[in-house]
Amino acid sequence: MHGIVRQCETLRGHVGPCGAMRAMHGIAKHCTAMRNIAGIALQCGVLWAPTRGALPYILSGVPQAQQRMDPAWRYSDTTGCIMTTLHHYRPGLWLTEVELPDEGFAVRGAVILGSQRAVVWDTLTHPRDMQPVRDLVGNRPLMVVYSHADWDHIWGTAGLPPAPIIAHTECAARFASDVPATLHAKQAAQPGQWDAVRLVPPTTLFPQTLTLDLGDITLTLAHLPGHTSDCIVGLIAEWGILLAGDTVETPLPFLNPDSSRSRWIEGLEMWASDSRVQHVIPAHGDSDGPTLLQRSIAYLRNLPHSAVPADLDDFYRETHAANVRLSTRSATLNDG
Ligand SMILES: [Zn+2]
Repeated sequence: MHGIVRQCETLRGHVGPCGAMRAMHGIAKHCTAMRNIAGIALQCGVLWAPTRGALPYILSGVPQAQQRMDPAWRYSDTTGCIMTTLHHYRPGLWLTEVELPDEGFAVRGAVILGSQRAVVWDTLTHPRDMQPVRDLVGNRPLMVVYSHADWDHIWGTAGLPPAPIIAHTECAARFASDVPATLHAKQAAQPGQWDAVRLVPPTTLFPQTLTLDLGDITLTLAHLPGHTSDCIVGLIAEWGILLAGDTVETPLPFLNPDSSRSRWIEGLEMWASDSRVQHVIPAHGDSDGPTLLQRSIAYLRNLPHSAVPADLDDFYRETHAANVRLSTRSATLNDG
């Protein structure tokens, strides 16, 4: 199957978010070639489907994703459930994305390929999410960075080879408290679904900033508490890119009961005034320019009366309602 590529007019425009492969099976009834390839590929258990560009097709076999320039590749398991989408953002930078239909949102990480070393920015939700990342990284020395210790950013680490794991100091403390508690709760709520998850705590901690040398580029990590106390951002100055984790979100940020709005706004304002930042990539929602930082600042500052888009989905409608409740209830939140 390696290298087999087929084209099917019927599929054009039908490859959507999670569940797309199941839809594709239905569509494939109309296309014999597509049906045959999809069936064989699923038996092989390895299937890549680029989702943008002129020619939708399925390519199966051992992925050599690092050699391909297609903007997006989907990786599926043997049941046809899409696990990870890889987006080729720019040379040396891939974004890793997983849809979580049970949760109502998606999460995004990144793979940064420097000339000497690679960094995986967040390992997402499950070890299987990292399978295509192993191919991207290849034999490069690897470092892992946790943007913070929320479950959807750190549960995939066991799917990677052993590597140094870098995070803010408070991230390590969370591995002794809410991190195992969240895993136990989700394992109890969804039996069997999270059995493969192994909690892997950070090995290298920093309190304020830390710069990683990847060869031709650097990744500067900086503490930006707010969403959680251990949140960080990552600046790739050579590319003008800020990996923002959960410090900003599109369409609106997510507050927790212990969020400090004043520290959060202060941190975002610092980055909003930094002319090196040209592109802001959040873990949830669309990327944008520095205006994404400004929108988040305005939202946080104006709570509980923040303006929000009219077309919020269920997840963000509930998030906004919770943010409003927290902002009127919590003394900590009102310190902004
Ligand atoms: Zn998150």
